[in-house]
Amino acid sequence: MSATNHLKALGVRATATPEELKSAFRRRCRETHPDSGGSRSAFEAVTEAYEVLSDAARRDEWARDYRAVAESAGLVVCLACYAINRVRPMRSDECASCAACRTPLEVTPEAQKERYTQELRQHLGKLLHTVGSEGGSLAQDMVKAAANGIRRKLGIKR
Ligand SMILES: [Zn+2]
Repeated sequence: MSATNHLKALGVRATATPEELKSAFRRRCRETHPDSGGSRSAFEAVTEAYEVLSDAARRDEWARDYRAVAESAGLVVCLACYAINRVRPMRSDECASCAACRTPLEVTPEAQKERYTQELRQHLGKLLHTVGSEGGSLAQDMVKAAANGIRRKLGIKR
């Protein structure tokens, strides 16, 4: 699974037309070509990005994987530039926007709370596991008490 943002490598938006992709590719090639002082890895990233984005099937597959990787980590992908955003719980009248391009993110406060509580639940699980296997009993009790407090505050069931 790939978490490489090919849109960023070419400097284009998700809505770029095939012509815009092509001209962005040419521009980025000039900028990153090793013969004109660019790094080989940057040039390869530009080439790969163009190959993926200009092929509808590969592009769909990449976009699906990219979003799955981000979402499984509790993150939100901006549908305009594909920047990955970490969004904190919001009030019901708030909306989140992309840190890179300011486009509103497609996330509701309810979905975000769910995402956040899932992430927190995983962290708490890991923490309790670590303390359970390595910590002394006092540390275990403290962590369990703190975890329960957080769960209560957020209304998370185990
Ligand atoms: Zn964005």
